[in-house]
Amino acid sequence: MIIALDVDGVLVDCNTSIREYAQKLLKRQLPAVNDWKDFAFPAAMKMTFEEGLLFHESIVTDSTLPYSFSWYPGATDFVHGLLDAGHDVFFLTSHWSGYPEWVTARERMLHLEFPYLDVVFTHSKQRAQFNLLLDDKPSTIATVGSERGRLLDRPWNRPAQSMFNPYIIVNDYAEFMKRV
Ligand SMILES: [Mg+2]
Repeated sequence: MIIALDVDGVLVDCNTSIREYAQKLLKRQLPAVNDWKDFAFPAAMKMTFEEGLLFHESIVTDSTLPYSFSWYPGATDFVHGLLDAGHDVFFLTSHWSGYPEWVTARERMLHLEFPYLDVVFTHSKQRAQFNLLLDDKPSTIATVGSERGRLLDRPWNRPAQSMFNPYIIVNDYAEFMKRV
């Protein structure tokens, strides 16, 4: 099976570093990542409109931040497990537009651990060819369709889960492994 894996929020924790960055920038405490109830960073961290603008303007000038992200516990084992099971795996990730280091840092991180796997950067994931995509963004899964998309349960996509929706949700890596 051809399996596409989203990176941020699925395999790699960018949120912890981004929250720390935002706290320094805004000089105040922001909601913990596990309490985020929205996919968009400003809404998840309950920023005012002005704070959100400042956040977006500032963060793209930070060339070191994207290098500070780390794999979620069990993430690399999960990918190795899919490969060992004979699946054709690649990374399918949306780059942060206007943030050059985002792509460079992401490629470097993925390449160091999985030098032979492809990384596809796109904002139109539905155009890529795969049998199954694991992603944490509800709108992406909605675009891809429930036949090809699986939504990984995360705090920031739970409000979307509770609405009427077409998502097939998986709770963790182990559940995804069992179902493929
Ligand atoms: Mg994601």
